[in-house]
Amino acid sequence: MSWDALYSSAFDKVRGNIGKVGGVLLAYNTNIDAVKYLDSKDLERRVRNVGEDEVLRYSDELPEKITSLEHLFGGILWSVRRGKAAELFVESCSVRFYMKRWGWDELRMGGQVGIMANLLGGVYNVPVIAHVPQLSRLQAELFKDGPIYVPKVENGKLRLVHPRDFAGDEENCIHYIYEFPRGFRVFDFEAPRENRFIGSADDYNPNVYIRPEFHEHFEEIASESELAVISGLQALTGENYREPVETLRGHLEILNDKDIPVHLEFAFTTDRTVREALVDLLGKFWSVGFNEVELASIMEVVGEDEIARKLLTHDPVDPVAVTEAMLKLAEKTGVRRIHFHTYGYYLALTAYKGEFIRDALLFAALAAAAKAKLGDVHSIDDVVKAMEVPVNERAKAVEAALEERYGMEKGIADVDGYQLSFVPTKIVERPKSTVGIGDTISSSAFVGEFALRP
Ligand code: ADP
Repeated sequence: MSWDALYSSAFDKVRGNIGKVGGVLLAYNTNIDAVKYLDSKDLERRVRNVGEDEVLRYSDELPEKITSLEHLFGGILWSVRRGKAAELFVESCSVRFYMKRWGWDELRMGGQVGIMANLLGGVYNVPVIAHVPQLSRLQAELFKDGPIYVPKVENGKLRLVHPRDFAGDEENCIHYIYEFPRGFRVFDFEAPRENRFIGSADDYNPNVYIRPEFHEHFEEIASESELAVISGLQALTGENYREPVETLRGHLEILNDKDIPVHLEFAFTTDRTVREALVDLLGKFWSVGFNEVELASIMEVVGEDEIARKLLTHDPVDPVAVTEAMLKLAEKTGVRRIHFHTYGYYLALTAYKGEFIRDALLFAALAAAAKAKLGDVHSIDDVVKAMEVPVNERAKAVEAALEERYGMEKGIADVDGYQLSFVPTKIVERPKSTVGIGDTISSSAFVGEFALRP
């Protein structure tokens, strides 16, 4: 069978079976993304008002956090000059107020939980229970219709309600996203590629604040779930990680007792201590998802610097190095499923076997291509619109390397008692949007797999 035929049959199977998946618990990060497309005249005027010299100083060296307008504009210029993304916490109330008045062009759902809740619940119609650190009116409005629930406690009793029916009047957790296109000019700088600078006016998500409903009623919330996805730990630091990681450990123990498979959606975590703490917890997860940078950062903390280096030196990423990295991690931690995604192909290493693992990856690749192509996916039937996107040609060499090394056939091989599953992805030439595409891939593959399980 050709890859296109495998794609088509995987999609039909997932669409036919996704209704079987019960509640998916999603924790912990949800926020509001306020996107502003930068205008260079407006930006230059604002920088001049604040003081060009001081701002330019911070465009050489990024401040640690934003406590002044000089920091804010310095951070924006730092990103523009390099075409690199950066994200800083905005501590000062007066800067937050300034950003609010400066405004935005678009509000979007933000945070991995928010994005996955809208995809799984709002698009695939799979019931989800979401942890939303603060439920403001604005935050609630960003949830799609569908079986999306948040826990609400009244008179000591827990109910599950749609976020809009929570009728919360809590704080806004806003991540201000300042986007610029490639070639964007400001003063003497020109952006070498498109990117964004983010100022987070959010006291909750960066600290992984956990709501009282989740502290006091977790056992009951877990009883309503069949699967769980954990995300949002990436902003933790050596100073603040202990308490949330202990709470997470407690949550994982409850989920493990109930035999609920839990996926960790890893995101790049700068703090090495936090990465070490997550590796220590990995055995309590069923599954974990990485891109190449994230997998390399984990190889560094487990003392595999040579593999880490190999993961970052080839384009496309060397699949044998990825497999070696996944084997090391599986052996060391006991995690049963490792899902790797990179531009052009995905791999999964699982302690169990079956074509459904590969088929779930194919479904995820189709969903990612649909998202890139359409910007917003409205229903599971939209996913099939990506069938016409061609399968990535460059993945042929990757497939050949896996066939030669592991005797892979139709994307499946047996490696040291594990199953290795491979799929070449569909790459959209001029994507409408790639925001949250990694979350789309990981959650579609994980949930898709449980839809297809025999
Ligand atoms: P993010 O954090 O932005 O979601 P990730 O690195 O987790 O980033 O995910 C990006 C993934 O999206 C890549 O590994 C690639 O598989 C996929 N992807 C990126 N651009 C495209 C595209 N144009 N078409 C299809 N898939 C894409």
